[in-house]
Amino acid sequence: MAAVHAGVDFKTMLRSGQFSDLTLVCEGKEFKIHKVVACPQSPVLSAAVSGEFKESQTGVVQIELFDSETVRRMVEYLYTGNYDPNQPPKPPTQNYTVGSIQDVTPAKSTSGPAPKTTSAALPVPVAAASTPDTLIHVRVNAIADYYGIQGLTLLANQKIQQAYQAKWDAKAFLTSAKEALDNTGDKKLHGMMALLAAQHLEELIASPQLADLVGDFAADILRYHAHKLEASKQEQLQIIRQEQVAAQTRQVEVQAQTQAAEAKTGRVIANIGRVVTMMCERQYCRNNACGEDFGCYIEQVGGTDEPSYVLRCSWCRCRH
Ligand SMILES: [Zn+2]
Repeated sequence: MAAVHAGVDFKTMLRSGQFSDLTLVCEGKEFKIHKVVACPQSPVLSAAVSGEFKESQTGVVQIELFDSETVRRMVEYLYTGNYDPNQPPKPPTQNYTVGSIQDVTPAKSTSGPAPKTTSAALPVPVAAASTPDTLIHVRVNAIADYYGIQGLTLLANQKIQQAYQAKWDAKAFLTSAKEALDNTGDKKLHGMMALLAAQHLEELIASPQLADLVGDFAADILRYHAHKLEASKQEQLQIIRQEQVAAQTRQVEVQAQTQAAEAKTGRVIANIGRVVTMMCERQYCRNNACGEDFGCYIEQVGGTDEPSYVLRCSWCRCRH
């Protein structure tokens, strides 16, 4: 049972198509919508149905620049503020269209007055199910850019960003970026695509599709630049490795010097210990000709680099 709402339930109006006063026709499908919902959001649609264009008399806008699934997503956004990239079209009912979409015969759709929106047609995707989400969002951005629906261009760009953050696919990116450059004038989307390309340049330059996006000349420049960056990176790595080897060599040298200094200090201390012990224990001079009471002193011999000490008799100066 439908809930009772105070005010207008736009979703129900969209589903039922009741009180529709504007029809979008695309690829043999009719989208029955309401001027009061669509026109405030799209200055282009508003101008088409308000001025002296044929659409203002017929209440029908033919759309040939975009595929019907992209139109469905735009209509869904106009009524709900969001769109589902993969919602399949719903079949028509007997009384009025479900989702306000109705199949019409090609004869009917082409027999009407020439629409304002007729111009060079874009390639229409054959199998929507196999279309990458990012390509779907780029097409939504393109239709939003065309009809001046600013909120929808921003929403499509958010969805593109989220899709690439969730899963990066270089091939899908190149296809989507190519379509973005060719079919939408949204500079924000172009800038976002350029940033994504720069962030994944190493992968992209390996793809022959890159030239389709930026041209052979620019692709060559990017590849040469990438090779230059790689060479510079290798050079930096080589310098870092050489510095590491030099640091290790210095460390070994310092360790050897420290060990030598410790050994020398140990020898000096041992020498002093022996002299002091001898001085304490010795009672007589070892020189038989020295008859005096034993007195002694310590004399430094050897250089200052590694001094050595000896014990000598104070009288005859013989070394003990
Ligand atoms: Zn003596």
